[in-house]
Amino acid sequence: MHYLIYVSQAEHPMSADELTAILTKSRDWNHSVGITGLLIYKDWVDEKRGNFMQLLEGPKNDVVELFEKIVADPRHHTKLLLEDGPIAERTFPDWSMGFRNVEDDALETVPGYSDLGSDAFWSRARAGLLTGSYHLMRSFYETAE
Ligand code: FAD
Repeated sequence: MHYLIYVSQAEHPMSADELTAILTKSRDWNHSVGITGLLIYKDWVDEKRGNFMQLLEGPKNDVVELFEKIVADPRHHTKLLLEDGPIAERTFPDWSMGFRNVEDDALETVPGYSDLGSDAFWSRARAGLLTGSYHLMRSFYETAE
């Protein structure tokens, strides 16, 4: 079992319909190949910028193959892999692709991620200074209703 986490910038701020289209496709495909995970989306309304963060987990070949397709998708750019590696068991066993359209307050207590998508965030990400992304994603699962 393998997992990876990346961040990216949306090509433009996503509408609800555009996010639904990504999720519908994701859930169908991921369910068929046994991939689970979580997709986070955060808008910076004033700067007309949207950001994704996603965790994928499942059989290694399927995760790597899907990541290659996601990286090639023109709906986002500046994709940056934060973490990847083997895992003993799934963190999101019943989420073919969980989703959170996060508000600022959902991240404000999370060190390193409270400004997800800002210029400062991207500088830290590029410098390899973002740790704890797995724990952040896991916390969304643990606090889900
Ligand atoms: P098709 O759906 O036939 O698409 C053909 C090509 O067109 C692909 O290159 C595709 O990227 C591109 N494309 C499709 N729709 C649009 C559009 N509306 N605008 C511009 N280009 C488009 N897919 C999953 O299966 N699982 C996931 O977990 C997953 N997560 C994603 C997360 C993000 C942030 C984004 C942006 C996309 C995600 N996708 C996911 C979709 C994935 O990137 C590919 O679009 C999908 O896997 C391609 O499916 P397909 O081979 O059937 O091609």
